[in-house]
Amino acid sequence: MRTDAASKPGLQVALCGNPNVGKSTVFNALTGLNQHTGNWTGKTVETAQGKVRGETARWILTDLPGTYSLLTGSPEEELACDFLCFGHQDVAIVVCDATCLERNLNVTLQVIQVIPHVVVCLNLMDEVSRMGGSIDLAGLEALLGVPVVSCSARRKQGLGELKRRVEEIAAQSPQHSSRSPLLVYPVPVEDAMIRLLPALEKAWPGNCGLSFLALRLLTAGEDQLHRLLEQCGSEERGGLQEAVAAARESMSLAGYSPQCAGARVISAGFEAAKALCARVVHRPCANDAGHDRSLAMDRLLCSKRVGIPVMLALLAFVFFLTISGANGPSAFLSAFFSHLEPRLLHWLQGLAAPEWLQSLLISGAYRVTTWVVSVMLPPMAIFFPLFTLLEDWGFLPRVAFNLDRCFQGCKACGKQALCMCMGLGCNAVGVMGCRIINSPRERLIAIVTNAMMPCNGRFPTLLLMMSLFFIPLGGWVGTALGAVLLTGVLALSVAATLGSAWILSRTVLKGTPSTFALELPPFRRPSLGQVLVRSVLDRTLFVLGRAAVVAAPAGLVLWCLTHGSLGGQTLLTHAAGSLEPLGRLMGLDGVILLGFILGFPANEIVMPIILMTYLAQETLVEPQSLMTLKMLLTEQGWTVWTAVNMVLFSLFHWPCSTTVLTIYKETKSLRWTGLAVLLPTAIGMGLCMLLTLVRGWVGG
Ligand code: GDP
Repeated sequence: MRTDAASKPGLQVALCGNPNVGKSTVFNALTGLNQHTGNWTGKTVETAQGKVRGETARWILTDLPGTYSLLTGSPEEELACDFLCFGHQDVAIVVCDATCLERNLNVTLQVIQVIPHVVVCLNLMDEVSRMGGSIDLAGLEALLGVPVVSCSARRKQGLGELKRRVEEIAAQSPQHSSRSPLLVYPVPVEDAMIRLLPALEKAWPGNCGLSFLALRLLTAGEDQLHRLLEQCGSEERGGLQEAVAAARESMSLAGYSPQCAGARVISAGFEAAKALCARVVHRPCANDAGHDRSLAMDRLLCSKRVGIPVMLALLAFVFFLTISGANGPSAFLSAFFSHLEPRLLHWLQGLAAPEWLQSLLISGAYRVTTWVVSVMLPPMAIFFPLFTLLEDWGFLPRVAFNLDRCFQGCKACGKQALCMCMGLGCNAVGVMGCRIINSPRERLIAIVTNAMMPCNGRFPTLLLMMSLFFIPLGGWVGTALGAVLLTGVLALSVAATLGSAWILSRTVLKGTPSTFALELPPFRRPSLGQVLVRSVLDRTLFVLGRAAVVAAPAGLVLWCLTHGSLGGQTLLTHAAGSLEPLGRLMGLDGVILLGFILGFPANEIVMPIILMTYLAQETLVEPQSLMTLKMLLTEQGWTVWTAVNMVLFSLFHWPCSTTVLTIYKETKSLRWTGLAVLLPTAIGMGLCMLLTLVRGWVGG
């Protein structure tokens, strides 16, 4: 029926497996796309699709969230399982971590029951060889009854063979999915499955994984069962429902409730995996040096007493490298753009451009865009690769582990620490990442508080404030002080997140904290090339591109505001003037508040807008250099305290438009979206006003 599958355009291939086994790495290597990778469990929370140019066919490859089982029912696991059961996939590639094959085989054995065409991709074989182990591929292939390909996706090894085996198996006609003879279920469960098959054939004709669907229906909880029944046509639903009830009844007469049957089915999977591994895996020496080093590292990083200080010190070191490394390139870029400016002006004059256009393009768009590039690019180009290195090494789950106790104390979920780390990159991504939290209450807490972590767009502002106002000493002492302050700022964000979680869990989101298992992946040597590509392309250039794209038009809008007038005053003066009283109450000014309001599309442009607004009143020769920037700000009345308030309000104010939209999409509730906007804003305004008030009292 499908013998020509391999020659069809659009072979449907699903990529599945446990979390953190290299699925995204395989996906990226096959499709050339840039799906997020990192050494921690749970980063892929939604499916990603890409095209693969195979040898005999083009494929649509779908990367599914990682799952340990297709039977337990967390939201990502259900998504992956439904996709495999009902997504009409021609082939499934199960990616396995070859360094811990036993843990990966449970889901492999399940996928083989769902889809007739499966290829097992044994990834991380480079690690297995490094540790001195080996795997009998032919033996595994014979025992599983499906092709097994040895692979090292990070080095792009074995991917050609993987493609070949996928297309080869897709060309065979599908039979019903099989089950490993090692997988033995209790007799009453087997009987109930057989009883259920005729009704299933009517409900889902042509589906090759009916036996596995029977298992799901027999072991599912009430909600899950209801959802599964919804998947079949309404005409068949009644009959299927009756058949499920009868089959469950027969199981229960033999002493098997759905939960008990589920537990036995899962343990049968683990036993089969163990038996399989015993036959094919030749283990390396258990106490090898790498393993010992990893344990020692975990003892230090996850220690109760020194874990958090060590973590903070590591972060401060990253900031130190960022600040000290950014100065030189920043100065170089600034000099380069200043040098270019008169030439551009000359060129525009040569084109006989009117003076207003010259001013619009040079003082408006050019200066702001070059500011964004010269001040934001160097620190980002250092910070993001360093942060990505830590992520690839396996640092983030250790952060979550250390913060778990604090989150439990606030009745929130320790996994929230991982979403916060994602928020450091982009809050919208952090909010989506909250899907790794299973409890809806704890997920809401994590979503509502995510914007309190400073994202990419806010980091440059924080770095700039540190460099301009808080590092009076030059040299490495000043830089170290800046790094410590920046770490303190981050600690303040974490404290505000914890405090808000504490308040939320005692007011609008009451409840008890859930328990969860946090997997600490092994420390892995990061791949430098991949880290560079990912951090430079995905993070640095993305942020810069967004900033430039939004900043240039914002520059034009501002130019219009400064040149349009009403009642003898520019529109900009009107807008900033009306915000001035509130700005003063917060220790800021009207222009700064206007910057934050106009910066709603992207936090990256807040500082450029503020500078542009000031520039509209002053003329500066070299706005890109740090010294002239400080002069400009002090002339506008900025003091160290303005900078402190600026840092506070940068940390705590409304999330950007993309994040607000994502929060709404994730919560589907205006109420929670409103709270996510109001809470950080209230904290920021409150802190700024309090500080200004206290200073007023002390000063007075
Ligand atoms: P996913 O969660 O399954 O999508 O896993 P990722 O693709 O994010 O990879 C998890 C970690 O394993 C990352 O740190 C990768 O760099 C690393 N990794 C992936 N493939 C390989 C490989 O072939 N060899 C080694 N040594 N590491 C790999």
